[in-house]
Amino acid sequence: MSQPVVTCPECAAEIELAPDTEQNEIIICPDCGVDLEVVSLDPPAVELAPMEDEDWGE
Ligand SMILES: [Zn+2]
Repeated sequence: MSQPVVTCPECAAEIELAPDTEQNEIIICPDCGVDLEVVSLDPPAVELAPMEDEDWGE
């Protein structure tokens, strides 16, 4: 079985997803360190995770 591979939208690195990766999981690109959200597993796809900004206290 081949490992699912996704491409980092930030730096275009190819990232192998761990076999136990779940949808909506946040992974970190080993190349550029950006947070990526697994938006789909079939086919495997990731998007840049929304920035978890500090809560500015509205
Ligand atoms: Zn990257």
